[in-house]
Amino acid sequence: QEVVHLITAGEVIDSFAAVVRELVENSLDAGATRIVVYLYPEQWRIRVADNGCGMNYEDLQYAASAHSTSKIHNGADLWKIHSLGFRGEALHSLTMLADLEIMSRPTNCYIGADINSCGFKVIYSNGGETHEIAATAMAPGTVVTVSNLFGYCKARRQGLPNTSQQLKAVQETIHQIALCHPQVTWQVWHNDRLWINTSPAATMGKLLPQILNRVRQGDLHELTLELASYACRDNIYLVIGLPDRCHRHRPDWVRLAVNKRMVKAAELEQTVLSAFHRTLPRDRFPVCLLHLSISPEHINWNRNPTKSEIYLNNLHYWQEQINQAIEQALRINSD
Ligand code: ADP
Ligand code: MG
Repeated sequence: QEVVHLITAGEVIDSFAAVVRELVENSLDAGATRIVVYLYPEQWRIRVADNGCGMNYEDLQYAASAHSTSKIHNGADLWKIHSLGFRGEALHSLTMLADLEIMSRPTNCYIGADINSCGFKVIYSNGGETHEIAATAMAPGTVVTVSNLFGYCKARRQGLPNTSQQLKAVQETIHQIALCHPQVTWQVWHNDRLWINTSPAATMGKLLPQILNRVRQGDLHELTLELASYACRDNIYLVIGLPDRCHRHRPDWVRLAVNKRMVKAAELEQTVLSAFHRTLPRDRFPVCLLHLSISPEHINWNRNPTKSEIYLNNLHYWQEQINQAIEQALRINSD
């Protein structure tokens, strides 16, 4: 109850990309190493299948209830968020906006021994009015299918941009999330066509060339700075690339992630760009991916419901560290 009051987020699901983001983040929170997304925009249908920990019968029954989350137990937990989800809102919202089917089978079950040796599926329809649950045969993991998206609030369909713009937004969402989770195998199907496909990589920097085709592996430099002075687990990880001059008409590409989530933080992006432009000739446009690992108690993710903007304690400290990291990376690069 206390948790509910602390969470002030409004509606988060307003597009295909938002559905994809919420479902895929649930798969990541479930520890999935393989995530497959199927998009049927013309049919208003999206399916996400993962090989994560799955849910047992009990959990499945409540997964889409109001404010149901297995990730936060009390108010204090909001200050040590390690999971991507924590509001317990996404699945519940989906039951009101669409028809929802969740199939799940936990990984930690004894095959043939008990009720968990098969999976279960729960189906919500009529805008969340009705739901039924039944046994189903499946591999361990979870498959969530959203169909008739926004069918229960048609006004939202009218407000959406056209399909190709929606797909672009989905692509951007997947790219961002994939970069932050390079060890996962990602597949995105658009109708019957395999559209995005990444193979697992050890680091963000090793995945980047699969996603940003203007860079090659050889152009990229990776650097990690441990910030022992501040808090033992904090660090800055940096990938920089200086694409050769033939790409100079491409704009700068700077992305910032905090604790495995891409964020917008204009103040920090500005820090990155100024650090580069103090050193670089004007015609070199950097590619830079910056990842900050920060103890969760220094971040407040509740700045907006999509969690893409954050409040950071000690902004100046981080600006200073970022400056140093970039200067160091550029020195290595020029040696
Ligand atoms: P939140 O992610 O904020 O907890 P959601 O509405 O997105 O809320 O999900 C509700 C709950 O359903 C999660 O806390 C989790 O326990 C369970 N769940 C959802 N998707 C999956 C999945 N792919 N694998 C395992 N459990 C899941
Ligand atoms: Mg979630």
